Parts: sequence; C-alpha cells; structure tokens
Amino acid sequence: MSFTKKNEPTEVRPNGQNETEGIHLIIIGAGLAGLAAALSTKLANPNHKVTILETVRELQEVGAGLQLTPNGTRLLSAWGLSSILAPLAAVPSSLSVHRYDGTKLLAHEPLLQEKMSALYGHPFWDVHRVDLQREMVRKCLSLGVKLELGCRVVDVDFASATVTLQDFKTKISGDVVLLADGLWSTIRPQFLGRPSPAILTGDLAYRITLRADELTGPDAPELKEWIKNPTVHFWLGPKAHCVGYSVCAGDVYNLVFLCPDDLPLSVTKEAGNLAEMRQKFKNWDPLLNKFLRQVKGVHKWKLMWLDALPQWANESGTFFMAGDCCHPMLPYLAQGANSSLEDGAVLGHLLGKVRGRREQLPKVAEMYQRLRMERGRAIQLETFRQRDDSHWEDGPEQEKRDELMVSMLGKELKGKFPSRWTCPEIQPFLYGYDAYAVAEEAYLEDPF
Ligand SMILES: Cc1cc2nc3c(=O)[nH]c(=O)nc-3n(C[C@H](O)[C@H](O)[C@H](O)COP(=O)(O)OP(=O)(O)OC[C@H]3O[C@@H](n4cnc5c(N)ncnc54)[C@H](O)[C@@H]3O)c2cc1C
Repeated sequence: MSFTKKNEPTEVRPNGQNETEGIHLIIIGAGLAGLAAALSTKLANPNHKVTILETVRELQEVGAGLQLTPNGTRLLSAWGLSSILAPLAAVPSSLSVHRYDGTKLLAHEPLLQEKMSALYGHPFWDVHRVDLQREMVRKCLSLGVKLELGCRVVDVDFASATVTLQDFKTKISGDVVLLADGLWSTIRPQFLGRPSPAILTGDLAYRITLRADELTGPDAPELKEWIKNPTVHFWLGPKAHCVGYSVCAGDVYNLVFLCPDDLPLSVTKEAGNLAEMRQKFKNWDPLLNKFLRQVKGVHKWKLMWLDALPQWANESGTFFMAGDCCHPMLPYLAQGANSSLEDGAVLGHLLGKVRGRREQLPKVAEMYQRLRMERGRAIQLETFRQRDDSHWEDGPEQEKRDELMVSMLGKELKGKFPSRWTCPEIQPFLYGYDAYAVAEEAYLEDPF
C-alpha cells in the first residue's frame, strides 16, 4: 500500500503504476485534430502528460475560412473556448443557395441561428482557421500541454509508443502515440505496412480571402455591406460550385470556387492565375464577379481523399490516428475540421478514463474505432453525394433538383433535400452529434 499526498490509500498495480499516475500521450501534428485531442485529454485527466510534436518551427498564419457547425461549436463550448472565439467569429444569420449565374434562388434558410439553437443548442460559426488554431494552442499551453515546434517525426515504433525525430537519433517514448499529421501523412504507410497515397477527387479549390477595408472602386460599398452582415451563400453550377461567407467578425470575406482539377498530377497546391480564374467564372453571378475583380491573390488547391482504412488504432491501444490523416474528405459539407475536433474529443474523453492502467488501452482502441470509423466514412461518402447534387450540368438532373428546391422555398423541409446543409435527414446526423455524450455513453455501457 502506498499513500498519496492526502494520505489516501492508493492501489498499486502489478506494473508499478497507480491510479493517480497519468499516461504520456505523444501527438504528432499541431493541426486541429492534434490540438483537439490534446485539449480533450488534459481536460479529462490532468494527470496525463501530453506532448505535441510539430514539424513547423513557427505556427504559421496560414489557412482560410472554416465553417464550424454545431457538432464543432458544441466542443468549443466544452473546452471553454466559446467566449474567447465569439468576438473573432462571424455568425451568419441566413443560408442561401443560388443558381450559379445568380438568376434563381434555390433555397433559403432565413433563421439559421434560431434553428441551430433550437435544434442543437449551439451556433453555426464561420471563423478563420488561424484564429481557431491560435486559441486552441493557447488553451493547450494553459493546461500544461507541451508543444515542441521544429520536431518532425520520421518513424514510430507503434508497440512501444516511441517516436524518432528528424535527426534519426532523438527518440521520445510515451504510453500512447496519436498520429494527427494530416492528409499527406508519412507515418500512415508505416502503420499500414503498405503505400497509402492520397487519392485524387477530381476537383480543386480556388481559396480567396478579402479584407473588407482593402476593397476599392465603385463596387466597394456594396461588397463591404455584404461582408459586414454575415450570411452563407452557395452558387451551384455545371461541374462547379462556389461558397462565400464572412469570417473575422465580418471584417474578411472567404470565397471558395470548386471546379474540375486541371493542375498537373505532381502539383498539389500553387498560386492561382487570376485571369484564368476570372475567365472560368465570368458567367457566374455578377456579385461574384465584383468580388473576383477585387482579388489580388488566390491559392489553387488539389482536393484529395483516401479509401477507407482497415484500422485507426493498433490492438494494444498504443497508437491512434485522427483527422485528415485517416479520413480526408471533400470540403463540400465543411466537416473535415469539425470531424477532426470530434475525433479529438472522443479520444481525449476515453483516454481520460485510463487511470494508470495501460492494460485499459486496448479497450480504448476498440471503443474509439467503433465510435469514430463508421461515422468518418459515412461523412466522407456524403461529401461525394453533395458534389453530385451541387455539380449537375444544365439538363434533366439539374432541372429536377432546381424544381424540388424551388418548390420548398418558404416551406418546412421534409425528407431528402439536395443541399445537405439544411436537409432534415443529413443535417441532424452531422450537426446533432455530441462527441462527449457518445463517448460517455459507450464507456458507461462497457466501463474499463
Ligand atoms: C478548400 C477547403 C475548405 C475547407 N473548409 C472546411 C470547413 O469549412 N470546415 C471544416 O470543418 N473543414 C474544412 N476543411 C477541412 C479542414 O481544413 C481539415 O479537415 C482539417 O484542417 C484537418 O486537420 P488535421 O489536424 O487532421 O490536419 P492538418 O491541419 O493538416 O494538420 C497536420 C499537422 O501535422 C503536422 N505534421 C505533418 N507531418 C508531421 C510530422 N511527420 N511530424 C510532426 N508534425 C507533422 C503539419 O505541419 C500540420 O501542422 C477545408 C479544407 C479545404 C481544402
């Protein structure tokens, strides 16, 4: 029998660990999945030690807008980040879908926030990725998470939870390694024991951000007004669509044009050609063309995904995967980051239950995979169905879609709806997911 500081008896485990001794979680990657897991683990069990190893030397101010749906904002609230991020978020009042040329309104939800609040109890926010990442990092540091920048992991010993850094000499050992190194993961093939290249989706994204105070010319007042009053808009066109929304409390506009991939195979991202982009979308909504005339720089991103992986963890529970490294998807439902936050919340909650007993880890692996893999796959596949419904070329399918959508304007939606953002069947599946409730319920059914 040993004693804690308070002289309470503590059971000593055969391996020398005790109930209050935490485990050491090593996270590879300080993206949203890695940060979510770090936060969630520390909040669930402050005795656990969490180290994040991140390749970059400085967390760069990169990225663009992110739509955070209630399944994500619910987690920000649980992590105490809602009030910190609220002044940095844009809170769209409505969500509209248009024909690409702006000649027809296809769908309109005028009470977006009211509906989100009534149905899910949490808001729909549009934020800049940089703001979200910065605040998650701050919170992690305040909880005692160790963030090591300039540390690229080149090798993982999955059974012993040991990682090797880029000098091929430094090794760091823990109890659990979480891989959260994104789409281009170099560790994923090591774990699978075979090559695991990301797959082309056939689409690419032009990502644009525009500061309201930098707009110039005769269109500027109209565009500024549009940005200052946040709303979400989609324009659906032949083999392409566009999404536009404000971020940074209505100071910045985020526009993404999604269309067939014409980048060379070897190029995954490059600075886009403005003239080419304007030419491609010249017949689209005149409002979009006013925005496009303001653009001074654009990024062109190849959109990739991955076939279903057989596992997201090893059986002994010493290795896990989360986020884009295991379920990258098309961004057409804005669920990549939201589901990465969900992964982190579920894993952190389950790891929090581990009380100095490494023999509990296999159970965590089984539960995490049971709770997360099927949902991850379902969301991935749904993003492709949304592409089909968003990209019909003018013709019978497009006419059928538009007729259905227009027929429901001003009415309460029932059954399947081509825009899954408001579809009464898909929206609750996406936005109604409560990662903590799901994890706790699974644990209570089968505690370890
Ligand atoms: C056009 C577009 C729009 C999008 N819009 C939305 C949206 O509105 N809503 C939404 O929810 N999602 C959206 N997404 C998806 C979202 O951005 C991603 O799903 C999410 O950021 C994935 O986070 P992650 O942490 O898994 O990976 P990443 O953000 O890629 O982070 C991985 C981290 O790991 C580090 N790393 C890599 N290798 C190593 C290594 N060997 N050692 C150490 N560190 C390493 C990297 O430097 C990086 O910091 C969008 C994506 C695109 C392309």
